[in-house]
Order: sequence, then C-alpha cells, then structure tokens
Amino acid sequence: MLTRKELMESSNAFSLAQQQLREAAATFGIEPDMVDILAECKRAVEVSVPITMDDGSVEVFTGYRVIHNNARGPSKGGIRYHPSVTLDSTKALAMWMTWKCALMGLPFGGAKGGVTCDPHVLSLGELERLTRRYTTEIVNEIGPERDIPAPDVGTNPAVMAWIFDTYSMNQGHSVLGVVTGKPLAVGGSLGREEATGHGALFCLQEALGRLDRTVAGSRVAIQGFGNVGSVLARVLVEQGATVVAISDSTGGVYNAEGIDIGAALAQKALGGRLRDFAGGDRISNEELIAIDCDVLAPCALEHVIDETNASAVKATIVLEGANGPTTPEADAILNDRGIVVLPDVLANAGGVVVSYFEWVQGLQEYFWKEEEVHARLQAIVTRAFADTWVLHESHDVSMRYAAYALGVGRVAEASTIRGLYP
Ligand code: GLU
Repeated sequence: MLTRKELMESSNAFSLAQQQLREAAATFGIEPDMVDILAECKRAVEVSVPITMDDGSVEVFTGYRVIHNNARGPSKGGIRYHPSVTLDSTKALAMWMTWKCALMGLPFGGAKGGVTCDPHVLSLGELERLTRRYTTEIVNEIGPERDIPAPDVGTNPAVMAWIFDTYSMNQGHSVLGVVTGKPLAVGGSLGREEATGHGALFCLQEALGRLDRTVAGSRVAIQGFGNVGSVLARVLVEQGATVVAISDSTGGVYNAEGIDIGAALAQKALGGRLRDFAGGDRISNEELIAIDCDVLAPCALEHVIDETNASAVKATIVLEGANGPTTPEADAILNDRGIVVLPDVLANAGGVVVSYFEWVQGLQEYFWKEEEVHARLQAIVTRAFADTWVLHESHDVSMRYAAYALGVGRVAEASTIRGLYP
C-alpha cells in the first residue's frame, strides 16, 4: 500500500521533471519553442495486462511504455515493475533517459516502461505470464531500431530474456538488439549487471579527485540494495571505502565500524531481506538519509530527499544511483549548504552505457571481453563527468543543471538540425 506522500509524488513526478528542464533551458538560453517540444513526450501507450494467476483467478494489471524523444536515435530505457508505477512517473523517467543518453554521447533518445505491480508477491510463473503479455501488448512500439527496453527497478535479466523471447517469437527469428540487460547465454554483455554500480564509482572517484579527496577512507551510506546499491557497496569496499549504512525496502542497518558487505550480499543471494540482517543497528530509510557519513548514495526510488529532510543530510556529496531521488526544493537546499550533488543522469548512467555496448554487440553478433567493456565504460563516464564539471565551474551552476544543460543542448541541437517535420 502506498503512503499518501508516495501517491502525491508519483502523480507529480513529470511536472517536476518539466520544471527541471525549464530551469536548465533558461540558464543556458535554449529557445522557448524548443523547450515546449522537449517538455512533452513523443508517444505514450497504456495497456491492460490480464493474466491467469496460479490459483486460476484472472488479474488485470496496467502497463505503460513512454517514448520521450528520439531525435538522436532509437529511444532507450528500462522497464519498472513496482506498485508506484504511473503514466506520470513513467513520463518523468523517460525524459531523464533522454538527457542521460545525450550526456553520455549515446546515439539514443529516452524512453521508459513499467507495470503497476509488486513483483515480490508474484510467483515465477505469474511474472513470466505478466512479462510475455505486457511485451505482446507493446510489441509494435519496441524494436532494435525503434525503442529498446532494459532492466529497471523490479526487473532483471530473466525478465529481459522473456521480453527477448516473446518479441523474437512474434518476428519468427531471434532479435538480439530488441532488449538489453539480457542473460549472457542469450546475447547479454559481460559487465552489464555491474555497470550501473561501476559507473557510479567512476563518477564518485572523479568528483573526489576534483576535491582532493579519495574513495579510500570515505564513509558511505547507501539507500537501496538492489542491482545498483549492492554492486556499488561491493566496489566501494574493494576501493577502501567504509560503507556505514545500507538499506532496502524493509529498512536498514548502521554500523560505524563498517558493514560486512560480503555477509549482506550472501543474505541477499539467499533471497533474504535486510530486515533480518544482523550486521549493525537497525535504522529506518528516513534515518539513513540523515546518517553521519561523507557520501550519501540514494540508490532506490524517486523523491527520497525532499524539503523536509534535505537540511538533515550530513554527507558532503550525494551520489544519485537512483533516478530522481532529490526533489528540486531539496536540490536548492543541498546546493545552498555547499553539498555536491552528483546527479542521476551522470551518476547512474553506467547501466545505459553498457546497454549501448550490448545493443552494438547484438547487432554485430560479435562479443567483447569484459576488460574492454569496463575500459570503454570508464572512458565514457569520465569524459561526461569532465564536460559537466567544466560547465559547473564556468557557469557557476550545480552539477545537475550543468549535466541537464549538456543533455538538453545536445538534443536541441539534433532536433534543430533535423528540422520540424513536415
Ligand atoms: N534503467 C536503467 C536507467 O535508468 C538502464 C536503462 C537502459 O539500460 O536502457 O538508466
């Protein structure tokens, strides 16, 4: 059951994303006509997804696929299975994908999809039927040259394999490029599962370097222990950081001496939730935001840092592993307090960058070594960080507005060069 706050925010997400666009565009003088075009989504479909449940009853779910923009190439973005999925939140997430892909220099536009459901309470069979029916309902929207889905909150490589298979069965042959984040056995890329966590690490390393600090010795609190948060925790510890707090949707744990991430990962691998993890003092997700640390990494859902808790943040760097974890009001508070926010479009872009590599490898049916994926990812994230940092310093704007401005500017440029059809 969603709280009133969650419901209110999920129905407001797109106007917040539009507000961010307008602010970035105003700061960098992007033409109002262009901003009006970019403020809307090119295409949005809502589908009903009826499936037979294991007990023989029928349940009808609602699914969405939104293409925000495709001026720079086919649209790209994940599929989310979560109770908070709405058309509005999907539109916001699609818009952020457009800026993210452009900032990284990928030949993609932005999209997002989702089904309003709680995947934790569905059996494997129900999840498969839901995925295959949803894919069939959007089969005319997606395609390797059109719109390419990927994992997001609540979905994983197994779900991507069902999407790949369903689409391919409809076409009569295997279409590797239709979806990314696939298992290795069916055209996935080495390094894709860890890519978002690795990208976040590279981004943090760059930021700390600019501030004459290092990852080694930094104290980090991570909200969310899914694909992003758990990998980030592991690689941070490998680099000598101390992870003092972690959490999932059941709550979190705090340990000033450092959490045993290996033990937490083992618990997760057995299907466990952090509620039952005994490696520290129990804290709530709200308490984690205000925990004493150097780096706060929100790696779960949107709008967890808002005007009610932004002044309580003790970290000096916020690393946005999630999409949209900071509201514009909170952003202003953090900025005024001198806290460096490494924005989602930069900090969590590792996933879509390696998705791009997977798409390229699939189209060529030629697969790369893991070191090659890793090195190319680092090169792209480091370059995007450097571009953003230069604009942040030269225009005295936050890293978020510098990153958005670069992304928005590149999409605006492509749209202008292509011209307005007809
Ligand atoms: N869902 C991820 C994101 O928000 C990955 C998208 C993709 O790989 O296309 O960036």
